[in-house]
Amino acid sequence: MPLSESDLEELRGLRAELRRLLASRNDDGADAGDRTVAPAVHVAAAAVRMDRDGRAVLEPRGQGWRYVAALVLLEVFQAQQADTWRRLKICRNARCTTAFFDRSRNNSGVWHSTKTCGNPENLRAHRARQRVPTTGL
Ligand SMILES: [Zn+2]
Repeated sequence: MPLSESDLEELRGLRAELRRLLASRNDDGADAGDRTVAPAVHVAAAAVRMDRDGRAVLEPRGQGWRYVAALVLLEVFQAQQADTWRRLKICRNARCTTAFFDRSRNNSGVWHSTKTCGNPENLRAHRARQRVPTTGL
């Protein structure tokens, strides 16, 4: 299915909205009520059919960006139903912000990679804490 420039624009908007939604989880609720950007409502069509094993199957519908948006939103829906949606996160390293799936046992991961993002950030924070007493003297 070919996509046009205008399709890409719509899909970039959906991607930005999903990233904004995931990034808002990193706010620790401190400014949860202070959203400067109102969340957009994305609508896509899907059909439900019964397969040969009696399972209800959701299928995307539409053309262009609407079909791709339906695919994405169906994945979001299924992840929310399976309670895995809360494991999709944005890396807390401000220089990274990669979206990642948190595989930690208690869903406490904040870095997409401890090695490349967690350790350097923790080292920076440690060094910053070390500097505070000396600058105050
Ligand atoms: Zn990262």
